Amino acid sequence: MSLLISSAVAAPAYGQASSNAPSPHEPVLPYTPSLDLASMDKTADPCVNFYQYSCGGWKKNNPIPPDQTSWSVYGKLYEDNLTFLRGILEQASIDNGQRDHVTREIGDFYAACMDEATVEKQGISPIQGHLDAVANLQSVKDIAPLIAGLQQAYGREVLFGAGSTQDPDNSSQVIAELDQGGLGLPDRDYYTKQDAKSKETRQRYLQHVQKIFELMREQPATAKKDADTVLRLETELAKASMTRVDRRDPYKMKHKMKVADLDSLAPNFNWKSYYAAAHYPQFETLNVTAPEFFKRLNNRLAAEPLENWKTYLRFHVVDSAAPYLSSPFVNENFAFYRQYLRGAKEQQPRWKRCVSYTDNQLGEALGQVYVAKVFSPELKQSTVDMVHRIEDAMAVRIRQLDWMSPETKQQALHKLQSIRNKIGYPDKWRDYSSITIARADFAGNMARASEFEHHRDYNKIGKPVDRGEWDMSPPTVNAYYNPQMNDINFPAGVLQPPLYDAKMDAAPNYGDTGGTIGHELTHGFDDEGSQYDADGNLRNWWTKEDRKKFDTRTKCVQDQYAGYVVVDDIHINSKLTLGEDVADLGGEILAYMAWQDATKGESLQPRDGLTPEQRFFVGFAQWACENDRVEELRLRAATDPHSPAEYRINGVVVNMPEFGQAFACKTGQPMTKPPEKVCKVW
Ligand SMILES: [Zn+2]
Repeated sequence: MSLLISSAVAAPAYGQASSNAPSPHEPVLPYTPSLDLASMDKTADPCVNFYQYSCGGWKKNNPIPPDQTSWSVYGKLYEDNLTFLRGILEQASIDNGQRDHVTREIGDFYAACMDEATVEKQGISPIQGHLDAVANLQSVKDIAPLIAGLQQAYGREVLFGAGSTQDPDNSSQVIAELDQGGLGLPDRDYYTKQDAKSKETRQRYLQHVQKIFELMREQPATAKKDADTVLRLETELAKASMTRVDRRDPYKMKHKMKVADLDSLAPNFNWKSYYAAAHYPQFETLNVTAPEFFKRLNNRLAAEPLENWKTYLRFHVVDSAAPYLSSPFVNENFAFYRQYLRGAKEQQPRWKRCVSYTDNQLGEALGQVYVAKVFSPELKQSTVDMVHRIEDAMAVRIRQLDWMSPETKQQALHKLQSIRNKIGYPDKWRDYSSITIARADFAGNMARASEFEHHRDYNKIGKPVDRGEWDMSPPTVNAYYNPQMNDINFPAGVLQPPLYDAKMDAAPNYGDTGGTIGHELTHGFDDEGSQYDADGNLRNWWTKEDRKKFDTRTKCVQDQYAGYVVVDDIHINSKLTLGEDVADLGGEILAYMAWQDATKGESLQPRDGLTPEQRFFVGFAQWACENDRVEELRLRAATDPHSPAEYRINGVVVNMPEFGQAFACKTGQPMTKPPEKVCKVW
């Protein structure tokens, strides 16, 4: 339930240094204001297309860099972070004999990744051990312990996904979990849909799989046959997989059982030896999100000859490690996953990938250095204050709701008061010192860091939940709400200009970051999050009538967004995006209330031809300025629970009468709705 999946990474953007810049060698983040007049398109009518009015200039001035699949305010900030972190990592990689253990970890990890000569020389050899293990498999019955090792080393859900989760019925405890998985394409729908584009994508995927086999020195004819086998097996798994929409229903994902039940659900897989090989702690209960998937997997394990499984596993070992191997593997990985599926024109320079990998694998080590440089105690305090104001606004809003009964309101307020605010960085840093990081073994470092993360994850099983834990690293330009933790998490990376701008006045800051805080809070009360109680348990706290009224209100949002087109003739799958759309609307309403309260009694003046109210809304819209490649839009339409940027702005303002008043829009204009059609949830 994040604000925005920002995987964007691109060309260095060197901006002006902040005024208190330290030494010329010290990296600094560039500054962009949170409301930028140059990003607007004043020729557009805000009442006709507010997104174009606020972001038209940005879109024109910021073409997508060739190594990017989309380009946005969020993506650009992430890119600035990469440049900044690169400076930190280059310094950290110098072995001067005086580095502390955190500096040594991140420095050596980055140095190993940047040592292209060694990576090239090693070719496929870093994964040869696992390929041999696959080749030596004697029987399908022996597959279980092998799978455990592959899942941990490669971070991919080979055959299925496994790990730990909070018990949906007792959120203070951690239990084991099994999930569907096993696919090479981004979603199960890629295997099942019969339109021309989906068929083309499957053909292109076959070519990719064949190429991977050829890189393992198979003859083209054999490689082609093997590719057919991989696609056929994956299609079987895909057909038994739940859709993304179904996976938003927490009750459909809850199937708690005993380990013995698992043996009856899928007896052809040796679970005992799987868990022993994976070194799980002893446990009795687990959750299986998708039992039908495991039934089908069980059938296929019996029906397919051993050779076919070996083929499947060989592909997944190489395909998942490809980005960390020598250039033929890296290039093929790019050509399919980033160029064909997402539309990038060029590979990212190696340093960008290496900074990202360091952040992904050692995020809380790199994050310590990042936070020390960019997230002052004053910045933390001012953003914490804003969070409190948004929470106060939400309490007022809940009390004001005319459709909700006092009983449900009391429960909602209790849940709101129980939300834990996590701002900037964790109180306790993760310790990576048990990972062996070698300067001449990049792929090995990746595998060991991935194994560390798996161990860390399932070693929580049987223990009380750690509520201080974070799912995002501090430099991440994103935020999230976790319904089982009932917490909101704002990494330091998302609290930087132009998103949160300490130099700017309240209006654009509340419109932008205030709205984001409101968005995450509202996730606790969207169609999915509202099914969890204050403690994070899956437990109904609504009266029957209130829930019915709530469902009618969210349906209004669902119907509105279903009308929007993403690309080609693909409409928003608004059952998938409903939680995010509700959070966008609720968040901005809360931000507006909180802003009015925060500036009560002040005499706010127009600036640059914009009234304070107009500046609030333009500040809001400018978080979402974005250009996308059509391939990226197609992929997101299938996989992303967020609506496209334009609708995350225009779809919200049509439901806020305050917007129409701020811009003096007339009834009947596109950015207005007749009062009886306005969607009101929170
Ligand atoms: Zn969200």
